[in-house]
Amino acid sequence: MKVYDRLSDLHVDLLSGTFSAMDWVNHHIAAIEAQNKELNAFVEIFYQEARDRATVLDQKIKFGKPGKLAGLVVGIKDNICYKGMGLSAGSRMLENFQSLFSATVVERLLAEDAIIIGRLNCDEFAMGSSNETSFYGPVRNPIDTTKVPGGSSGGSAAAVAAGLCQVALGSDTGGSIRQPASFTGTFGLKPTYGRVSRHGLIAFASSFDQIGPIARSTEDLAVVMEVIAGDDQFDATASTQEVPAYSAKLKEENNQGYRIAVLRDTVENDGVDKEIREHMLAKISELRQAGHQVDLVDFPYFDYLVPIYYLIATAEASSNLARFDGVHFGYRSPKGTDLESIYKHSRAEGFGSEVKRRIILGTFVLSSGYYDAYYGSAQKARNFITKKMRDILDEYDFMLTPTSPGTAFSIGIERDNPVQMYLEDIFTVMANISGMPSISVPTGIHTNGLPYGIQFTGKYFGELDLLRISQQVKS
Ligand code: GLN
Repeated sequence: MKVYDRLSDLHVDLLSGTFSAMDWVNHHIAAIEAQNKELNAFVEIFYQEARDRATVLDQKIKFGKPGKLAGLVVGIKDNICYKGMGLSAGSRMLENFQSLFSATVVERLLAEDAIIIGRLNCDEFAMGSSNETSFYGPVRNPIDTTKVPGGSSGGSAAAVAAGLCQVALGSDTGGSIRQPASFTGTFGLKPTYGRVSRHGLIAFASSFDQIGPIARSTEDLAVVMEVIAGDDQFDATASTQEVPAYSAKLKEENNQGYRIAVLRDTVENDGVDKEIREHMLAKISELRQAGHQVDLVDFPYFDYLVPIYYLIATAEASSNLARFDGVHFGYRSPKGTDLESIYKHSRAEGFGSEVKRRIILGTFVLSSGYYDAYYGSAQKARNFITKKMRDILDEYDFMLTPTSPGTAFSIGIERDNPVQMYLEDIFTVMANISGMPSISVPTGIHTNGLPYGIQFTGKYFGELDLLRISQQVKS
C-alpha cells in the first residue's frame, strides 16, 4: 500500500473504495508488528479498538457520512488518556494503569472518525530530550537506528517518520514535539498555550504543557489542529478564541510578505552545528528572494532560557507528581509497612532517576528558604523574557532559529550528562516560557545523513501563519 503524507490524498482512495478502512488499519498493524521490535516506538497497539472503528467507518463510507478525519491513522503519546486503554507515561509508576476517561483531544479525533492505532513510547513523564528515560527503553530513530529520535515525544516522531501512523499526537513542555520532529524529518507544531485542551494529558509542568501534532505535511498538521483545538469546559486554560479553518485557509493562495527576525546567536554562535548555521544563512537569502523581510535581531538572553525553564518546570513537576505515591495513584511497593514507608518505597522504586532528579530539584527551589532566590527569580525572568519576545513580535511576524543546535545524537552518549542534555532545549524552551506557538519544519539533510528542521515562533494564536510559512519553506 502507498504511504500518504496528506489526508486529502488518502481520502481520494479510501472514500472511493480502492481499499477499505479495515485493510488500511490492518496494513498499519502489520507495519508496526514488523518494525516495532527494532524501533520500539509503540508501547501498545490498540488492536480491538482500531478494528472496531474500522468496521464502523467502512459502514459510514458506504452508507453514511464519514467524519473529517475518516481513516486517519493516529498514534497517541503514552501520556494522553484514552478510556479503557493502558496509560503509563513511560514509567514503571503507571505500568498497569488504565485510563478512566478520554482526553478531550482523543474524543475530538474519534468524533471525526480518526483511528487511534496505539500509544507511543516517550521519556518518563515527558522528561527528556532523547526518549532514553522511558521505562520501556529507548526508541530508535528510523532514519538511522543507532541514533535517538529526540524526546520526549520520540515514539510519536519515529512512528510518523517510519510510516507506522500518519499523524501522532505529542506533548510539548519545552520542545518535546519540535525537537523530535527535527531529528526525524517530520513537521511538529506546538500550539499557543491554551489553544488545545490539556484535559486528559498527564501533567508535567502545567504552565508550559501543550498537546500538538506531528505529521509528514503541513496539511495534516492543519486538519488535525482544527479538530483538536478550541474551548473546553474541562480545561480552564483552554481559550475561547474561535478556531480558524486552518486547512481551507492554507489552501488559499497566499503571497503575503512576512517580516522575520532571525535571532542572531543562531547563526553566529559556534555552539550550533556549522552546517546548520550555513543552512540558516542559505534560508535567509531564500526567504529574502521570495519577498520576505528578514533581519538579524539581537536577543542576548539565550544563557538564561534553559535555567529559567528547568527551575520552573521542575517546580511544577514536583507538585504535579506528588499524586503518584502508591496510595492515590500508581505503583505500590510491597516493602511498605506504614504510610510513610509506602510512600518512600513506592516512589523510590516507581520513578526512574531523571524523574527523581527533577522532583528533588523542584522541591528544593520551592522550599521556603530558597523560594525567592530560585523559583521567584525564575518567574520574574520568565516575565522579562516574554516581554522581550513580545517586543520582537510587535515588529515581526516570526522569530526564526534552528529547532535544535545539532542533529540526532547516538543512543547512549548523552544519557549520563543531564546538563548537556538540558542544553539540547536551548531554542525550543522560549516558546513554552512565553506560551507562543512554534513549529519545526524539516528543511535540511546534514552530510551525516540526518535530517534537521528550522523553527518559526509566532504571535499568540498565529498558528495559521506558522503553517503558511512552513508550507513555503519546506524542502
Ligand atoms: N527536553 C525538555 C525536558 O526534558 C522538554 C520536555 C518536554 O517538552 N516534555 O524537560
